[in-house]
Amino acid sequence: MKPLGINHYLEAAKRSAEWHKNYISQMKKCRFDTISVHGIYSMQEALDFNQGSIIEPIYMSTSQSYRDSDEMEAALSYQIPTWCYSRIANPTIYYLEGVLALLETYGSDVDASCIATSSGMAAIQTAVDPFLLPDPKNPSKPINFVATTKVYGGTFQQFAIRKNEERHIEWRKVINSNDINEWENLIDENTRFLYGEMPSNPGQAFFNLKKVIELGNKYGIPVIIDSTVATPALMRPLALGADIVVQSVSKTLLTSGLGIAGAVIAKKNLTSNIDNPEMKADFCMYSKQLPNRDNGPNLSPMHAILALNDIRTLRSRVDLQSRSTMTVAKFLSEHKHIEKVEYLGLESHPLHKIASDYLWLVDSEYDEQYGKKINRYGHLMSFNVKGGAQAARNVFDAMQRIWRATDLGRIKSVATIPAISTHSQQGEEGRKLADIPPNLIRLCVGAEHPDDIIADLDQALSVLDGKKVIFTSPEYSAGGASSATLRK
Ligand SMILES: *Cc1c(COP(=O)(O)O)cnc(C)c1O
Repeated sequence: MKPLGINHYLEAAKRSAEWHKNYISQMKKCRFDTISVHGIYSMQEALDFNQGSIIEPIYMSTSQSYRDSDEMEAALSYQIPTWCYSRIANPTIYYLEGVLALLETYGSDVDASCIATSSGMAAIQTAVDPFLLPDPKNPSKPINFVATTKVYGGTFQQFAIRKNEERHIEWRKVINSNDINEWENLIDENTRFLYGEMPSNPGQAFFNLKKVIELGNKYGIPVIIDSTVATPALMRPLALGADIVVQSVSKTLLTSGLGIAGAVIAKKNLTSNIDNPEMKADFCMYSKQLPNRDNGPNLSPMHAILALNDIRTLRSRVDLQSRSTMTVAKFLSEHKHIEKVEYLGLESHPLHKIASDYLWLVDSEYDEQYGKKINRYGHLMSFNVKGGAQAARNVFDAMQRIWRATDLGRIKSVATIPAISTHSQQGEEGRKLADIPPNLIRLCVGAEHPDDIIADLDQALSVLDGKKVIFTSPEYSAGGASSATLRK
């Protein structure tokens, strides 16, 4: 058989790239819900490559086979699209990356790409590490990054221990993130990026992102935003001018709770003071082909399809759960055993106004129910129980419908006490910085009817009136004798 020659493959790749680019620009014109449902998986791709399968197929295969050595050579030098090895690329993961890139840039003409990772923490590492390089002309000069302290517990540890303590990369801490002068005073020529989480988990810190983006532009450094709590259904930092968004896909995006996943979504041609044109041109493609190929924090295709599946209903879920959370927050704020309720949706919240500038339910103006732009604030809230740490634990222990777990973003309501769970590792001092008192309960409201969540909270809070809550448990699982746990 005569070889087709490498040019045959290169030209086919060029034609395909053109086709896919066109298809994606067609999809970009659709509404948010349509993009969520279809992503970048097309009928053409289904019919030509996937036996017409209307759902994105799950490619569990580790690698792809090539027609001949020419095709292999072109693929392994990244000259043609390839699923050479699933640590680097995989079709199912590619569909997830495609939909997230479109959703995070929805309603804007920003061109972005995405790389999926095995977890949100891996996404943060993927997003920040390529910037944390010394100055080649002066390698001993210390470098730093400027980041808010009100961040997820794992992020706090990654920054404080893995970067600051172990690698001597200074974390310059923004304590009051809504004070733009504080950010600016920390920046110098060795600052590699600005990082913030908004709204933060669990404190719901919020800041004026547009001003932080202006600072990034002024100093030529990227702005990286962890937008997990908002999801693209409420806020899209890239469209506002941020360079990189990280998502813990494990949370509201993969709401069914069937796996851990993360994603980095970066705009093309981002700003950085690192001299690496390839990285700046397409950060996610660069990460895929180089650093993450070498470090290996890749996602499993199984988790990619689970995430894709949940993302299809993102907007309506976030709307429903935001409304329920508002109802629950209002109930709690009037309860006699509650010291304080923190929910950005409450007018009493000090950051309500600024949050209202940023958190909008996408496409509500095209929703026949609303017909105009409306604010929604997500399903994360927290409350402080009167009477201190023990009172909070008593209430927590009495919950019967709301699950006690260190989890967030679920279709089921979940509560945790951050001081003894997500934020236990960082110690008293770290918790003070992150503003996590011991009587704080974080609640993430699910898609149950809010009346039932309120009823559960009401009975749990009644323990503080001396009412005893009896948590009964069956002696056998409904699943049968094999899973029985007979209690003494
Ligand atoms: C959970 C979480 C992370 C970490 O994500 P994993 O998928 O658990 O690794 C990062 N940021 C925020 C805001 C989170 O809630």
